[in-house]
Amino acid sequence: MERPVFELGMIFKSSQIFRKTVRIHVILDTRPIQLVKNFGKKVKYVCEKPCEWRVYASPMKKTTSYQIETILNKHSCMPTFNQLQINSTWIAEYYEKEIGMNPTWHVATFHKKIFNDLKCNISKYVVYRAKIRALMKINGTHSAQFDQVWDYAYEVKRVLPDSIVKILFKDPEPETESGRFMRMYVCMGPLKYAFTQFCRHLVGLDGCHLKGPFGGQLLAAVGVDSNDGMYPIAWAFVESETTESWTWFLQFLA
Ligand SMILES: [Zn+2]
Repeated sequence: MERPVFELGMIFKSSQIFRKTVRIHVILDTRPIQLVKNFGKKVKYVCEKPCEWRVYASPMKKTTSYQIETILNKHSCMPTFNQLQINSTWIAEYYEKEIGMNPTWHVATFHKKIFNDLKCNISKYVVYRAKIRALMKINGTHSAQFDQVWDYAYEVKRVLPDSIVKILFKDPEPETESGRFMRMYVCMGPLKYAFTQFCRHLVGLDGCHLKGPFGGQLLAAVGVDSNDGMYPIAWAFVESETTESWTWFLQFLA
């Protein structure tokens, strides 16, 4: 979906996915296209300019899939800088991964990147709204995942009873009445067993920064297996790498 190329007979899971793909294709192709209306269930796109480019897809029997039945993938028109297909919702979705990796990107940097990638004229305001939209979605999903840490711990211990999962919460503050997630230590039972039985008696420790809206650091203990490969023993998410957080990690590891 990053750079779709159409071919005759290509199948899409639904008409929505076909439409989405056409949109990405024309934006990257910097050409104006339009949907031809009133064709029942068929989806037909043609070039807005007097130009032969076209792609038609029709529903396949007994499924929701769509298949390209007509395609003429060459424009005789000139590229355009004014892409009406691009809006903040589209940019937010297309660049979601990159925004998630670079949440502190300045709007000007992001604007320049979009111009270089897509060769289109869009305002900085549209870029600003796209960034906000993407970050709201990313942070939302991250928060929702932190909500599930207790379920995760319970499930790990249910499936692998010898496992150790420890969660540290900061006590609730009087004004918010809700605690704050601080740390989580995980050591899966089978990994622990295999380390003691089959690995060399050597433990490596290291920490690294985590990218994402909440930051934090990952502490890890690894061993060396009989094939000279790294062998994960236990890991922990902590707020930062300090003597106190390492001590917390190591007491469980021991
Ligand atoms: Zn054209």
